[in-house]
Amino acid sequence: MEIMLTQELSKIYKKVPEGQCSGCARCCHESVGASFAEAQVIYKDLKNMPEKKREALVDALLEYYFDVYQLRKKCPFLNRENRCEIYYSRPLNCRIYGHWNKKDYNDNLNRLDIQNREIAQILSEEYGYKVKGNYLDFSIEYCNSFKGKILSKSERNELYDALIVLDSKMFVSRGIKLAYEDKGIVEHLVDKLLSKEKIFEIKMSKKLSSRMRKRLKNIAKLRIGVI
Ligand code: SF4
Ligand code: SF4
Repeated sequence: MEIMLTQELSKIYKKVPEGQCSGCARCCHESVGASFAEAQVIYKDLKNMPEKKREALVDALLEYYFDVYQLRKKCPFLNRENRCEIYYSRPLNCRIYGHWNKKDYNDNLNRLDIQNREIAQILSEEYGYKVKGNYLDFSIEYCNSFKGKILSKSERNELYDALIVLDSKMFVSRGIKLAYEDKGIVEHLVDKLLSKEKIFEIKMSKKLSSRMRKRLKNIAKLRIGVI
């Protein structure tokens, strides 16, 4: 199934035009959204990495998830040399980042800003949880130095629609009762390795002690060996 998924995704990714950039990795300063199918392929890549590297990435993924509303962190897949550890399976969002036109990009940032502030309000009202300002006020600015074709809105939507269709086919063939959701790679992987709902509850109840963090990371490292 994953081989088929890799092939299907690669057909979609091939439609993204080539581009040139400095590789500064400023656009990797937060984790990005991915489709369900993309997350399955990334998970497979992670699973096949040498044990030491895989475990360090599982630690980084979970730390990102635990602290996302408190500390601003880079994408957990960005390594110390500013290189992507999952470059060949990175999701569409990473691939088309430089191909947005400035207006659409900034409109999208505004939409995300409103959405994040609404989420912060809900977390405050429902759980008494305070989302830090450094989460709410951060955004990755438009990149002016990328050189490549700008995709129109309909060209971008065509690519995203192809991801939705692929996810829908997977859900039907695997009997998965889920609707398409463009959630973060980190959330997808935490969901697969642990129960995201349970960790979310622990996070909101402020019971995430360093001992608890260590236990959850150990469970995730054991699970990735078997699922
Ligand atoms: S797309 Fe822009 S921000 Fe991202 S690595 Fe290239 S130059 Fe840097
Ligand atoms: S997955 Fe890779 S390319 Fe995408 S944001 Fe993370 S480090 Fe950057």
